Amino acid sequence: MDLLKRLALNKYGTGNESHIDVNTDICRTCKYKPCIKVCPAGTYEPDEKEILIVHYERCVECSAALVACPFGAITFKYPENGISYTYG
Ligand code: SF4
Repeated sequence: MDLLKRLALNKYGTGNESHIDVNTDICRTCKYKPCIKVCPAGTYEPDEKEILIVHYERCVECSAALVACPFGAITFKYPENGISYTYG
């Protein structure tokens, strides 16, 4: 089996609840919100009142936002349905 066919066997699923928690009290005081800028998947987004919305289902688990957050406001665990391999 060639590489592309093997890679196509990777299956991703979305968990039923968020695997990302943010401390909204801290986020409210965060002026530049670097998590929004560094996330390649658009997981973090401000609402009209600048309150952070977390679209956990978009997360690709790169941890960029964890590194970028200057206040340690993000708690992350790997999602239960994050990745599953089905070799056949
Ligand atoms: S960088 Fe950290 S503190 Fe700032 S908005 Fe994002 S998660 Fe909240």
